Amino acid sequence: MVNWLSPNEWFDGSRYGNIGFEMEFEKLIAFRNYYWIEIMTECRVHALRILITPHAYPDLVPYDPVKDNGPWRYDPDRKLHYWNPTHCLEFMHEGDLMVRDFRGLKYFDHHKDFCCIDHQTCPDKNLFKPLARLRFLLPG
Ligand SMILES: [Zn+2]
Repeated sequence: MVNWLSPNEWFDGSRYGNIGFEMEFEKLIAFRNYYWIEIMTECRVHALRILITPHAYPDLVPYDPVKDNGPWRYDPDRKLHYWNPTHCLEFMHEGDLMVRDFRGLKYFDHHKDFCCIDHQTCPDKNLFKPLARLRFLLPG
């Protein structure tokens, strides 16, 4: 199973829905391998995808955020992660994500046109974040 994660936030509404589960990035990447997967160019903002996994995949291209000149960089001297905000960086995290590891919840307005699940049928497009919060806390 792969969970889709992204550090990006969108000024004109989230394309990932209305609710964000925040996690410690260091916990997500600890003792994992990273692989460059692809660039999706169908959208106006290109999506760059990196797999984070506990497994070794010899047929995939390894990604090193310290050495590689890609969308995710890590400065070990400053212990800081960087990403290129002009692209949509997406991490494919292989494995379970534990609720106990969530650092917090964040609510977003849903983008009025874009949705990563299905932009043609998503009923939440343009949903204002206070209403999303209410629906999350009081479903039904
Ligand atoms: Zn949606």
